[in-house]
Amino acid sequence: MQFKELGLSEHILKAINEHGYTTPTPIQAQSIPAILNGGDLLAAAQTGTGKTAGFTLPVLQRLLTSPVNQASRRRQVRGLILTPTRELAAQVHASVQTYGKYTQLKSTVIFGGVGANPQIKAIQSGIDILVATPGRLLDLMGQGAISLQHVEILVLDEADRMLDMGFLRDIKKILAALPKQRQNLLFSATFSAEIKALANDLLNSPALIEVARSNSTNEAITQLMHPVDRGNKHPLLAHLIKSNNWKQVLVFTRTKHGANKLVLQLEKDGITAMAIHGNKSQTARTKALADFKAGKIITLVATDIAARGIDIDQLPHVINYDLPNVPEDYVHRIGRTGRAGSNGIAVSLVCVDEHGMLKDIERLIKQTLPREVIAGFEPDPNAVAQPIQLRSQQAPQRHGQARHNAASPRGANQSKRSGQNKPASSTITAPKKPHRKTNTQKPGHFAKGPKPTGHTGGSSNH
Ligand code: AMP
Repeated sequence: MQFKELGLSEHILKAINEHGYTTPTPIQAQSIPAILNGGDLLAAAQTGTGKTAGFTLPVLQRLLTSPVNQASRRRQVRGLILTPTRELAAQVHASVQTYGKYTQLKSTVIFGGVGANPQIKAIQSGIDILVATPGRLLDLMGQGAISLQHVEILVLDEADRMLDMGFLRDIKKILAALPKQRQNLLFSATFSAEIKALANDLLNSPALIEVARSNSTNEAITQLMHPVDRGNKHPLLAHLIKSNNWKQVLVFTRTKHGANKLVLQLEKDGITAMAIHGNKSQTARTKALADFKAGKIITLVATDIAARGIDIDQLPHVINYDLPNVPEDYVHRIGRTGRAGSNGIAVSLVCVDEHGMLKDIERLIKQTLPREVIAGFEPDPNAVAQPIQLRSQQAPQRHGQARHNAASPRGANQSKRSGQNKPASSTITAPKKPHRKTNTQKPGHFAKGPKPTGHTGGSSNH
């Protein structure tokens, strides 16, 4: 199938063509016609599948063709896209701009951590599409700087992560400000009970799409794990980067403190590095990402939530310096590489403290990661496991203890997500009678997840 067969306008096709895409990815081939039909959509999209264009293209198309409310003198927000993180918002907006380049549609992006005034000005200049993180959107709504009364299409991107970050209440407040009559599109990698409840509330007879089981990992990614002693992880990482001459490595640590410490250590080894996490200013985060993308630094050290949505074309290496305490985050992390058909390598450095986490991850992805001991870094067979530090500046928490709530970027007290200890997925019950079947997938087949296990680590400290 080609993009030109999907019923998109010449203006959009021209931009797609210029961007170098000819063939829609499987999710695009299904989501574009479904969204153009005008109904609601519930999509289980594996990370890196091309889901952003999967909703951006048809949203642009629908707004191009829908009659504008002539009563209002200036443009009003008609398409609203909510994302969990600033980085993802910026990236989604970049896609809106790329694909909407030859249309007359205007858009802007708003998120916290930067001044609100330029964002308010952009909104007041009149826009058709708004990409936003929930917190900043609510702030601007509270100030009366934005009206959502003309929204025709709502997209919730990475809805599972929004709930993990404690945004459910914010989302509900935003939903209450939208017109009742609208198209709703919900994208989520996993389907917890909370996501199912949200889908039930929000969606009306949605089309259901699933392109790959959400907890499966991409086959273009070679996965490997190196057993190593706790204290030897940093020398091993430096050795791997230097001996393999790696040029672009995304490294995940569990804590912000761990990320900062590792950056200092790597720099001492002459390996350029920057950290990206929730304690960094938005300017520092944007700069670190830009320098990493431009190849100015070799390593970007990230915590899970900060890295969410980072999209780097052809990123070759992802390193799990610490294993994530939520097994699903492993899938999200390694999904940063091997995107859209390119090959990637995901390496995990695993010490004795993390064996329980490794087991949970392997159960989730239904594979055993190939083990490779690196000469000179053989782990001590008599090493004893120690409690794992889940957060910076916090008493260590023993693996298997109750997981802490995910810290929200707007304050930990907003993380009131209940059921945090449930696995992210189980069989989904289809919300309100799905009426179209856009693939051979049965509604009940979303995201089969594992049973809860002893390890109940919380969302990471971003
Ligand atoms: P996403 O899942 O939206 O984050 O997209 C993952 C990657 O796939 C991004 O780097 C996109 O630029 C790329 N991509 C999206 N659609 C296509 C396509 N039709 N052909 C090739 N690459 C694509």
